Amino acid sequence: MVSLRSFFSKFFKNTTTAKKSTMINLILFGPPGSGKGTQAAHLVEKYNLLHISTGDLFRSEIGNKTTLGLEAKNYMDKGELVPDTVTINMLKKKVDENPDVKGFIFDGFPRTIPQAESLDAMLLEDGQSITSLLALEVEDKEIVKRLLERAKTSGRSDDADENIIRNRIQVYLKNTAIVAGHYAKSNKSVTVNGIGTIEEVAARLSAAIDKTLVHQS
Ligand code: ADP
Repeated sequence: MVSLRSFFSKFFKNTTTAKKSTMINLILFGPPGSGKGTQAAHLVEKYNLLHISTGDLFRSEIGNKTTLGLEAKNYMDKGELVPDTVTINMLKKKVDENPDVKGFIFDGFPRTIPQAESLDAMLLEDGQSITSLLALEVEDKEIVKRLLERAKTSGRSDDADENIIRNRIQVYLKNTAIVAGHYAKSNKSVTVNGIGTIEEVAARLSAAIDKTLVHQS
């Protein structure tokens, strides 16, 4: 006689074994010039995660002169946000291309509430979620100084003009800062002092991440 267990197992095959283990998904957050990209490079090595920077993805599309790149450039040159649908689709493609990673460091994404909601839904489809949002705190005066300095080597026109920098800061305050509140609702937002040497800030971020991971396990 066929046991109930083997009968049902045909329908529920591998539901437990196929479940992916819990990923570490971090959002590196903060105003432009707060050091997200620099710090992501450190964290990628330490936690063995995949770094996805939407700004870098857009710049690569611009470099390849794709339709997406040409569209994004119009917004980036003014320090405005690229529309959500374009940004979300590009991000989703990148996530889907990397199904076997241990986790992601999202840098420069999400920058709006619809982006955050899409990211949450995207991860949930895979039984995953955001582990932590780490917000680097740096005051405006320091940001302007850092970005004008970065312009000398980055070749980024959005870093070379103080008016564009100020607009990016305004956009951050108006559309992006609330994303930290979205993750605070589930106690996932952590603020980290972004002033200091690269190593000092990296150590603060690692300490914050390790604390979250201990609570999670
Ligand atoms: P920074 O953090 O120094 O502003 P980024 O490289 O992250 O630099 O972003 C550069 C520009 O790319 C932004 O000003 C914006 O125009 C565009 N961009 C990057 N990420 C996003 C996003 N998630 N949503 C909309 N626009 C974005």
